[in-house]
Amino acid sequence: GNQNINAKLVLLGDVGAGKSSLVLRFVKGQFVEFQESTIGAAFFSQTLAVNDATVKFEIWDTAGQERYHSLAPMYYRGAAAAIIVYDISNQASFERAKKWVQELQAQGNPNMVMALAGNKADLLDSRKVTAEEAQVYAQEHGLFFMETSAKTATNVNDIFYEIAKRLPRV
Ligand code: GDP
Ligand code: MG
Repeated sequence: GNQNINAKLVLLGDVGAGKSSLVLRFVKGQFVEFQESTIGAAFFSQTLAVNDATVKFEIWDTAGQERYHSLAPMYYRGAAAAIIVYDISNQASFERAKKWVQELQAQGNPNMVMALAGNKADLLDSRKVTAEEAQVYAQEHGLFFMETSAKTATNVNDIFYEIAKRLPRV
């Protein structure tokens, strides 16, 4: 049968990793080179049909700045899914992503579907984080991993689709 699922989803990760760009690509099919920094958080919604369900994602795109860190629990509390984003050309953003995973695993909903997105996969010449090390990390921590590019659209719908498939059915 076909089910309608409402799923709160939060994007977390370093400033500049491409959270807003991933959302803009997923929700509007657009990309801008000079995406404005998010202040606080921004809300979007987008519906996606998978084979047995229609999932309405209620998406919280957080800012990522340290000074907004204390607000993060408001966005991940009660979330059914999270995408933790880093930039493959920025090692520090990968370290930051691991911190978010740690925080979610300590404080978040234990059934949360968690995805690790190695974004800016188009920037191959500036790569600092290998897909292998991210994959190993993800596997060890129970997340699924994809490299994405909001710029070229690579794996953007796919990561949301993969989340939709993994959400618990009623
Ligand atoms: P946020 O702070 O995590 O929301 O990051 P933004 O979405 O604001 O993106 C930060 C910068 O990286 C912007 O200039 C984007 O245009 C750029 N950007 C985001 N995603 C990609 C990507 O997949 N590839 C490349 N080359 N640039 C990206
Ligand atoms: Mg942003």
